[in-house]
Amino acid sequence: MTIFKDIVDGKIPCEKVFENERVIAFKDIAPQAPVHILIIPKKEIPDIQSVVGEDIHLVGEIIKVAQSLAKEFGIEEGYRLVTNNGSLGGQAVFHLHFHLLGGKQLSNQLA
Ligand code: AMP
Repeated sequence: MTIFKDIVDGKIPCEKVFENERVIAFKDIAPQAPVHILIIPKKEIPDIQSVVGEDIHLVGEIIKVAQSLAKEFGIEEGYRLVTNNGSLGGQAVFHLHFHLLGGKQLSNQLA
């Protein structure tokens, strides 16, 4: 059980920007760019390393949601979609999530 599961279940409020039966997206509580949205599957998948074959369509759907949110938030010309895997990869919440970041010139430093 993670804080993101509580958000999925509506037990913790969030600034929701998208929701369907399988995916939810909301603003990051500590934004690192003018646009910083988290896109997550409702299914409890801990991280990218735990994605199995049957989840592939879901991950593809998250990419489509990211495309459409990028357009909605006016950052379609330049953004970053990133997921951290494991503590060593900088992951703090162990419910798969993709950061959609944009609205400023992003560094090409990835690590
Ligand atoms: P990561 O380090 O990739 O696991 O990212 C976790 C992200 O979740 C961080 O950017 C946090 O700011 C964000 N976060 C943690 N709690 C909340 C919350 N309740 N609502 C929105 N974002 C959150």
